[in-house]
Amino acid sequence: MSLDTSTLYLVATMIAAMLGGMLLIFGKQENISALEWWGAAYLLGAASVGLCTIAGDSLGVTLSLALNAVGFIACGMVWNASRLFHGRKPNLPGMVFGAIAWIPIALAFPPGALAIRITIGAGIVAFYAALTAGELWTERRKPLQKRWVAILVPVMHGFVLMLPILLGHLMRPYNAKLSGNIWITGFAIELVLYAVGTVFIIFMLVSERAVTLHKTAASMDPLTRLLNRRGFVEATSRVIEREARAGRPVAVLIFDIDHFKSINDRFGHPAGDEVLILFATVVVSTLRISDLSGRIGGEEFAALLPCSLEEAVVVAERVRSAFAASGIVIESGPVDTTVSVGVAGGPAGTELEVLLASADTALYQAKRSGRNRVEAAEELPLSLESWRRKTAGLSAPVRQAPATT
Ligand code: GH3
Ligand code: MG
Ligand code: MG
Repeated sequence: MSLDTSTLYLVATMIAAMLGGMLLIFGKQENISALEWWGAAYLLGAASVGLCTIAGDSLGVTLSLALNAVGFIACGMVWNASRLFHGRKPNLPGMVFGAIAWIPIALAFPPGALAIRITIGAGIVAFYAALTAGELWTERRKPLQKRWVAILVPVMHGFVLMLPILLGHLMRPYNAKLSGNIWITGFAIELVLYAVGTVFIIFMLVSERAVTLHKTAASMDPLTRLLNRRGFVEATSRVIEREARAGRPVAVLIFDIDHFKSINDRFGHPAGDEVLILFATVVVSTLRISDLSGRIGGEEFAALLPCSLEEAVVVAERVRSAFAASGIVIESGPVDTTVSVGVAGGPAGTELEVLLASADTALYQAKRSGRNRVEAAEELPLSLESWRRKTAGLSAPVRQAPATT
């Protein structure tokens, strides 16, 4: 079977151009600038390879070198697209570096030294493929899975591009023309596979990111940007498991803003929201990075600390006093911001629900003792059941047990 390389190149070009158009439209629609870059890069690359293939030798040395340079800029754009995709800034000098380096290097060789030029050109493309793979590789610790596919394709692309060097060295002594043809045909086929493969990766990454965003949205409170109850429960159960394996104790804090209803009534709901945001800021800036916090109800917050009850009480007191000192003043006067805190601690492996229930009882004590204070749970309920029986028997107004789901 004989494959016509020009036809192959044109097919590759058309496919790349079509994919480029698709990415550009999709990127614009979804407002993902990385995809727009990727699409523009494909269109530019397709235009460069297409023109070179159609016009061939009639282009002249300068014009064909310039078109090659445009192709390298397209490679640089693909690399920058992967940077943008991961929230980094585009690197413009890096993007044009290959193109600028190409002209003097290529001119340094006589026009007949095609093999050398092809090798240098392939080297530049492989260099950008490696940068793209590197960009995706540095993201490997992010929770997006299957990243290895995203790395494999550019690496393969770079490898195929470097094949002429290998083939050149291995086969030139026997048949230089044959090795050149094999590579050119192979490269055209690989170009198609690369173009399609990368678009596949892009859509895989985009859809994974969408899933991650939805997951984050489902576990986050939009007002305070803390975890919501569901997110808090999920995140804390992982921490509790980890701490249990290490045999370390854990503690839970429940915060309930004092007379919050009256803040709403006196200053309005938006002022109430401001107080909630302020409290979240106080919690986040007072706790350590290893502590987890979340908004588990209207004006109720919780935190999980990998430490003993005594240490947790100190932290709770720090949050309480910081919030009391952070009072905000609005047009109609100062807003009293105080919080009551219930703290419970348990040995390694204590269940979150048990800790929450116990901290809730302590919080109730703090409210009864006059608010704006921290109370520690004296004992942990042996089980949730015993805690429910005990609270059901209280004569004081019964606080609702936290959801057990
Ligand atoms: P206590 O000191 O006993 O905790 O009294 P409280 O007024 O803080 O408690 P209560 O449970 O009676 O009132 C809670 C109020 O929180 C009622 C509800 O309208 C308000 N609230 C719940 N969620 C939000 C919110 O997102 N924004 C605002 N502004 N208010 C909220
Ligand atoms: Mg409350
Ligand atoms: Mg309250």
